[in-house]
Amino acid sequence: MSRISVDEARELWLRSDDEELKRLAGEVRGRYHDPNRATYMVMRIINYTNVCVAQCDYCAFYVLPNQEGGYVLSREDVFAKIDELLEFGGDLVGFNGGFNPKLPLDYYCGLFASVRERYGERVEFYALTVAEFVFLADRAKLSYAEAAARLRDAGVHWVTGGGSEILTEDFRARHAKWKYTVADYFDAQRAIVESGLRTTATMVIGFDETLDERLEHLQRTRDFQDETGGLFSFLCWTSKPYGTAFGGREISPQEYRRWIALSRIFLDNVEHVRTSVLTQNEAAFRALDYGADDFDLPIEDEVTQKAGARIELDLEGLLAIPRRLGYEVEYRRAERPAALAGS
Ligand code: SF4
Repeated sequence: MSRISVDEARELWLRSDDEELKRLAGEVRGRYHDPNRATYMVMRIINYTNVCVAQCDYCAFYVLPNQEGGYVLSREDVFAKIDELLEFGGDLVGFNGGFNPKLPLDYYCGLFASVRERYGERVEFYALTVAEFVFLADRAKLSYAEAAARLRDAGVHWVTGGGSEILTEDFRARHAKWKYTVADYFDAQRAIVESGLRTTATMVIGFDETLDERLEHLQRTRDFQDETGGLFSFLCWTSKPYGTAFGGREISPQEYRRWIALSRIFLDNVEHVRTSVLTQNEAAFRALDYGADDFDLPIEDEVTQKAGARIELDLEGLLAIPRRLGYEVEYRRAERPAALAGS
């Protein structure tokens, strides 16, 4: 099968049954991966602060500066959470928090350097999302290249493509007008790739986005990958609406799986397509039949939990599900960027 256009993707979405989507997604998956094998990581998101000025209407996590309930984790809190992750057999941390105007870029560089110093290569971490990176670079009045270099010097290897939700300017204006512009997002991610750090693509579906907006998101992602080759993976998860200002209803697991399939078919230049146990729980594993090849087993993410996500800590019980579906599952360690190997 050759690369499909946006119009062909729209037709596939509207006209194809599940079997057709599975078959086509399996064909693209098979270019990169053994059809009977899947990989996973055990990880935890550490939400270092819930203070945020972005005020996204789909978020149930944040409080404004000086509001009651705001917090910033101490280093000891962060280390205790990492130690607990290690006890669970995990080795990947994702730092994610609000746009806290009281925490400058130097705070983050100090935190990340201390984690690297304490844990070395035993733990890998996603230092920030691109969304947080844009905010911090702008506040520090640094170019994206300069900010990326500061993080790299602090021992950072990864800045993920999190906080992207739906990458269209209309969606940003409707739901998150103070977060970033789409142009800023990709400029920042390009600088991250050029600095030698690794990054990923993400997407969140199930708000009020139109099909055309979803397809625009995929098109921009594929274009960026064609240009830079810097995206390690694509992870799509679903919006949890509970307790948010926007509200809404969750989409069905079937719609999620179908979207994973379409994403795999369209993003023919991204090696890893990841399914979201955090937001789909047991149902996430069926997406392995729809083109996904990799997943996280998360032990905490306060942002999503506040909006209704349920964390399952019986990791062996979870791993039994893909095994029952016929997959051999294998633990995957986060890769160190080749550009930084030996540094
Ligand atoms: S989603 Fe992130 S940036 Fe938006 S309000 Fe919540 S914490 Fe802030």
